[in-house]
Amino acid sequence: MTARPLLRRAWLLPVVVACVLIAIFPTLTHNQYYQNMVIISLVMAVGASGLNIITGFAGYPSLAQGAFLGIGAYTVAIGSVKVGGNPFYWVVLGGVVAAFMALLLGLLSLRTRGFAFAIITVSFLMLTRIIVQNWRGLTNGSNGLTLPLPTWSREFMNWPFHFALVVLLGLSLLLSWRIRRTKFGVGLIAMREDEDKAGAVGVNSPTYKLLGFVCSAIFVGMAGGVYGYYLTFVDPIGMLGLLLSVQIILSVLLGGKGTLWGPVLGAFIIEPLNEVANNQLGGGNVRLVIFGGLLVLVVLLLPQGIITTVRKRWTLYQERKRPGLTGARIELCERPMPASRPAPSPVNILEVRGLNKRFGGLQAVNDCSFGVPEGSITALIGPNGSGKTTVFNLITGMMKPDSGEVLLDGKRIDSLPPWERAHLGLGRTFQITRLFGEMTVLENLVAPLRDFTPGQLNLKAMSGEEREKAEGLLALVGMTAYRDRPASALSYGQRKLVELAQVLALEPRVILLDEPAGGINPTLIERLGELIVELNQAGRTFLIVEHNMPFVMGLCDPIRVLARGATICEGSPEYVQQDKCVLEAYLGGDYAAERKGEEVA
Ligand code: ADP
Ligand code: MG
Repeated sequence: MTARPLLRRAWLLPVVVACVLIAIFPTLTHNQYYQNMVIISLVMAVGASGLNIITGFAGYPSLAQGAFLGIGAYTVAIGSVKVGGNPFYWVVLGGVVAAFMALLLGLLSLRTRGFAFAIITVSFLMLTRIIVQNWRGLTNGSNGLTLPLPTWSREFMNWPFHFALVVLLGLSLLLSWRIRRTKFGVGLIAMREDEDKAGAVGVNSPTYKLLGFVCSAIFVGMAGGVYGYYLTFVDPIGMLGLLLSVQIILSVLLGGKGTLWGPVLGAFIIEPLNEVANNQLGGGNVRLVIFGGLLVLVVLLLPQGIITTVRKRWTLYQERKRPGLTGARIELCERPMPASRPAPSPVNILEVRGLNKRFGGLQAVNDCSFGVPEGSITALIGPNGSGKTTVFNLITGMMKPDSGEVLLDGKRIDSLPPWERAHLGLGRTFQITRLFGEMTVLENLVAPLRDFTPGQLNLKAMSGEEREKAEGLLALVGMTAYRDRPASALSYGQRKLVELAQVLALEPRVILLDEPAGGINPTLIERLGELIVELNQAGRTFLIVEHNMPFVMGLCDPIRVLARGATICEGSPEYVQQDKCVLEAYLGGDYAAERKGEEVA
C-alpha cells in the first residue's frame, strides 16, 4: 500500500465530519456572529478554490480574484436593481460575466509570467474598481447599490445564502477534482513546473491558460453574487478592495496550493482570524499586522502550505519504514545489437537555412545552414559556445531567429509555436534536463501530447494504454524502479534517461538530443547508442549534439560541424575527422595525433 492512500484514509473521517458540520452549520446554532463568519469563510473558500486552479495548478500568482467576486456581486446587484427579479436569479449571470472578464484578463496577460503577471492582475483589480466608481449611471459610483431585501422568514434569514454557498463550494471542488484528473490538469501542472518545456512536449499553453482562468473565475463570480445579496449592499471599497484578494491568496498559500482541500482549509483559518482581528483586536492596523506577519510566517515556515507539508512528512515517515530505493539499479533489458542500418534517404526531413541569432553584441548563430537527411542519425558538433543549443532552440521554436528559415518536410515551420512543431513530429531533450519536478517519473512520461483537440482536455490524465506505453519506455531506458518517484528526486544521469523516454513518448519523427551522453556512465552510454540505432531502424531520424567523440563517430553519419555559429564542415565521420578546419576549430592537434596512433597500432 502506498503512503498516499493510507494518509487519505486517516484524514477521511475528520474531513467528512468537518464538511458535514460546515454544511449544516446554520441548523446547529442561531448565533448570527458565527453564522456570518462561516458564510464569509465559504465565500473565501470558493474564491481560494477557484484561485487554486490558476495559481496552484498552473503556477500563475493572481491578485485579481477579489475582482471576480466583486464583478459577480455587481452583476447581481445591477440586474436585480435595474432590471428586477429575485437576486438569486442573477447569480448564474454573475458567474458568466466574471468568467468572461477572466478570459479578457487572460488574453491581456498571455505573455507575462511571475511578478509581471502578478502586477497585471493587481492593475486589473484597480482598473475594475475605477470603472465601477466612475460608471455612475450603472453602478451608482462610490455610493454603491442597495439590493432588494430577502423576502423569506427572519428565522431562516441566513439559510438560503449559506446553502447556496455550500453548493457553489461543492461544485468548485468538483471542478478542481475533475481538472486534476484530466489531461487539462496535467497540462496546467506541466506549465507550472516549466512552461517552455511544456510547449516543447506539445502542451498548447495559451489555450490551457485561458481556460484555466475561466474555470478559476466562474464559481467565484457566482459566490460574489450570493455574497452581494447577503450583504444587500455593494460598493467599490467593500467589494473591490485589495485586501479581499490578499486574503484569498493567503488562504491558498496557507492551506497548500495545488491541493484540493488546502484552499478551503486556508479560508476557514484566515477568515475567522480576520474576524477576531476586527472585533476583538480593534481591526485596522492590527489586521494588517496579522496578515502581513502570517504571510511572512507561511513563506518562512510552511512554504508549501499545511496540507502539502503534512503529506510530505507523512510520506517520508512511511518511506523510512519501507526498504528504500537508494542503490536501486537501473535495470536494462537484454537486447541483441541491431543489424546493419538502412541507408538514409537523400531527402532532408529537417533543414535550416541562413539562421541568424544575436544576443546583444554576440552573434551566437551566424548564417547557419544544414540539412538532416530523413532516416539518418546526424550529429551537430562543435566547441562549447559555438551555438549548438541555440540552433536547437531556434529549430524547436523556443527562441525566434533574427532571420532564416526552418523547414520540416519541406514546409516552413519557423513561425509556428513550439507545441505545434511538437505536434508535427519534432521532439527534443535538453542539455540540462528539464523534467516536471513535482510530477512522478510516470506522470512525466504521459505529459507529452501529439495534438490538440478541445476533447483532449477532458480525457483521463493517464489511460491504461498510456500507462502501458510509458512503462514500456521506462523499461527501455531501465528506469522502471523509479516509476513513482518525483522527477526532482532523480540523479542527473537518471534524469537524462527519463527525459529520453519522455521525448520518445511524444513519438516524434525527428528527435533532437542535446548532449545525451553527458553525465551518464559508460555502460549506459553504450546502451544509449544501441537504443538510438534501434529507434533509427524503426524510422526515427536523429539530430544529436554530443562531445563524446567515440560515441559520435561510431553512431552518426553525416556530421555537421559548427564554429562561432556557422557550419564550417559537413560530411561523413571519416571526412570530418580529416578536415583541417575542424581539427583547428574543434578536435585539435591532439585528436589528430591520437587517431594516427590508433591507425598505426
Ligand atoms: P553550445 O550549445 O554550442 O555550447 P550555446 O548555443 O549554448 O552554445 O551558446 C552560444 C553562445 O550564445 C554562447 O556564447 C552563449 O553564452 C550565448 N547564449 C546562449 N543563450 C543565450 C541567451 N539566452 N542569452 C544570451 N546569450 C546566450
Ligand atoms: Mg549547448
